[in-house]
Amino acid sequence: MGIPEQSTRSALPRVIRSKDEIWRTVVELKASGNTIGVVPTMGALHAGHLSLVERSAAECHVTVVTVFVNPTQFGPKEDLAKYPRDLDADLNRLGRLGVDLVFAPSDEEMYPPGHSTFVEPPRAARGLEGQCRPGHFRGVVTIVLKLLNVVPADAAYFGQKDYQQSVVVRRMVEDLDLPVRIVVCPTIREPDGLAMSSRNTYLNRDQREQALAISRSLQAASDLAAAGQLDADVIRDRMRQVLLAAGIERIDYVALVEGESLQEVREVAGPVVALVAAFVGETRLIDNMRIG
Ligand code: AMP
Repeated sequence: MGIPEQSTRSALPRVIRSKDEIWRTVVELKASGNTIGVVPTMGALHAGHLSLVERSAAECHVTVVTVFVNPTQFGPKEDLAKYPRDLDADLNRLGRLGVDLVFAPSDEEMYPPGHSTFVEPPRAARGLEGQCRPGHFRGVVTIVLKLLNVVPADAAYFGQKDYQQSVVVRRMVEDLDLPVRIVVCPTIREPDGLAMSSRNTYLNRDQREQALAISRSLQAASDLAAAGQLDADVIRDRMRQVLLAAGIERIDYVALVEGESLQEVREVAGPVVALVAAFVGETRLIDNMRIG
């Protein structure tokens, strides 16, 4: 199975830029018996993205990776203009994994003049990232829905790294009856614990060191919970201390939430997710860990 042009595993993926063409290609592949996995990304691919691709390739006959830096999910003061873009490098990495198809549309292809419809995000989008980045999830759910419409895949792969996004997308898919299975894959970290992120390329050496406090704070939360500390305030305080001790002072949030509703908890009584969003220099990083 798979598509005929892709006979060798190291060939570059076929790049499709038009919505019509990717839709037709995917529909034809499905008609001839292939299952389709889609991995939505903004490019600047690293091992975290590639882990999603590998999971899709293990579960589906054909994997489509979308590469699109979605302008509608960036706020006016955010890093849209400087967001790293290197499609050639991305294609080489994907070719080595045997990816068949890359959908890399232009802004105009996804948002032609006159485009004015957006999806209202679910309740889970209100706090955390939704509060710090107004409009972010409106852009996310809109582009994910559009991508799933033009790439009618059987399964779509997302990372736990963007925990709230994974919850919001799952909710949207369920609420809007989309015929796609959402698969959430574990966060891939550097050996020292830093969660892989395209934005890590913004960090200089000192900031890279400082950024480690983010995963350390999550680990501290996990350790406290494992040692029997149930009081969420105590755990959140400890997480803040770890960040502040490393000189991370611009903290958007330190949160301990119930995994589905994303409501803050008072006690770590069941499975809870600890999340951090903080600035290291000018770079805003997010990370999370399941605890309890
Ligand atoms: P992005 O290109 O940042 O929009 O990410 C595309 C997808 O890759 C999203 O589903 C992310 O959650 C996922 N992702 C990003 N970083 C990681 C990571 N370190 N581990 C696992 N998945 C990741």
